Amino acid sequence: MTETRPSNGHHLDSATAAATDVLPVRNPRTGRVDHWIHPPRPAEIAGLGTALRSAQVAWNEAGIGHRVAVMRRWADVVEANAAAIGDAETVDTGRSRVSHEVPHMVVAAIRGWCDAAPAILDRARLHGVSSVTETVGYDTELDPYPLLGVISPWNHPFLLSTLDAVPALLAGCAVIVKPSEVTPRFVEPVAASIAEVPELAAVLRYVVGGPETGQAIVDQVDALCFTGSVPTGRALAQACARRFIPAFLELGGKDAAIVTASADLRRAAAAVLKGAAHNTGQVCFATERVYVDRSVHDEFVEELVAQARRLELNHPDVTRGHLGPFILGRQADIVDAHLADAVARGAVVRCGGPSETLDGGRYMRATVLTGVDHTMTIMREETFGPVVPVQAFDTVDEAVRLANDSDYGLSAAVIAGDEQEAMAIGRRIRAGAVSLMDTSLTITIMRDVEKTSYGMSGLGGSRMGPNGMLRFLRRKALITRSGPVPDMDALREDAAAPAST
Ligand code: NAD
Repeated sequence: MTETRPSNGHHLDSATAAATDVLPVRNPRTGRVDHWIHPPRPAEIAGLGTALRSAQVAWNEAGIGHRVAVMRRWADVVEANAAAIGDAETVDTGRSRVSHEVPHMVVAAIRGWCDAAPAILDRARLHGVSSVTETVGYDTELDPYPLLGVISPWNHPFLLSTLDAVPALLAGCAVIVKPSEVTPRFVEPVAASIAEVPELAAVLRYVVGGPETGQAIVDQVDALCFTGSVPTGRALAQACARRFIPAFLELGGKDAAIVTASADLRRAAAAVLKGAAHNTGQVCFATERVYVDRSVHDEFVEELVAQARRLELNHPDVTRGHLGPFILGRQADIVDAHLADAVARGAVVRCGGPSETLDGGRYMRATVLTGVDHTMTIMREETFGPVVPVQAFDTVDEAVRLANDSDYGLSAAVIAGDEQEAMAIGRRIRAGAVSLMDTSLTITIMRDVEKTSYGMSGLGGSRMGPNGMLRFLRRKALITRSGPVPDMDALREDAAAPAST
């Protein structure tokens, strides 16, 4: 029987750990369990929900100026503790650079939302006179969902736990966040940063736990933001429908990139490789399939393979190299299975894959595949690994048809000879965001512009741009009659129809 050591210092064997609801957490670099979490029981989640809901009333009534001031103080605290949060997330994810950049991205996002929020709220408060009846006027009240639940995945632990929570807090909601049980170490320093801002601590709480904790949260909240896989998203959407609460879903992707004959092939290869291999491909909007004009296919693949071969694993030193381990060992099995299916159906591995185990961590070198087609799993289902399958096309129409032949529609990319050519193709692609002349540009416009996912990639409207905040507010119309009330005689069947009532 494997001995395990919970973080509170007690010794437990694995059977006892299960019996006491302690969840073991593996280190992605060693494959070993070296951390334990103690999820709250459903009754504790219910109590927490009541406390947050009660604090939300004052939070909302205090107004946007107060909420902005509090959130700016939190941004300062996160900034001061960025190293501690980054260190914890480095252990969670097995990658250092991004883990240490993320706290600063979150700080910038909080401050950006604080800058934008007052004007977004102002513009949404409509008032005026009825277009049908001039003695009727209206005002809009913005009424936040009291308690929002956020359930987030393991691929970007801190960042994805905040994307919805920050605008929701500014909208006036209280928020309970449950990050993935795969990557929970970052929660402790984040919770400490929240505790330093008591007004925020009253309305924002992180809890650790797995699916059961997630379900207990769904039972308590007034709206849910879920980021994660399609099957979980579908199950949670059904659970929310049963409770008549909105579910905002941000799910998987199978992003296509199109490379035309006129593209600068070195630039195209660099963009595609970055899109596919950054964070070991564990990114929802990773480039997962590439269509290249047949006339430049061989030259493009040669350049892509040359660039891919230069990428190094961040093993044994987490602060060096380009590619970290798979955060979740099971993900390596999924990527290997996609690769094996493609090879069995005739694809050729030009460099990289399958995964390799080093000191217990599961790694994969940047992998380029040719000879692929849409009968292969690797061209249809989310792979979530550093794999670039490349398929040739003969006409732009064919490239667009292939790009659109997907159940997903999160984002896509077009790399062409110039921006106009890329734009013309990009307009024809069914995806919420299309990067032109590069890949993965979505993250750069988070607070600026709205985008909606297509297909199985999401549901519930844009998490980006002003709607990223407005979706947490119910619009209540306050409608006032200023003149006399038309009585029932005015509504008689034989009364002359008035110009307006
Ligand atoms: P997952 O669906 O397995 O888990 C996501 C979260 O849901 C975790 O916190 C998990 O504990 C919780 N959960 C799982 N089952 C649950 C249940 N039955 N009830 C309540 N909660 C439950 O996803 P994952 O493997 O952690 O994340 C990877 C997926 O996330 C990929 O598909 C990726 O594309 C997607 N993703 C999407 C975006 C986006 O913005 N569209 C961003 C990042 C990741």
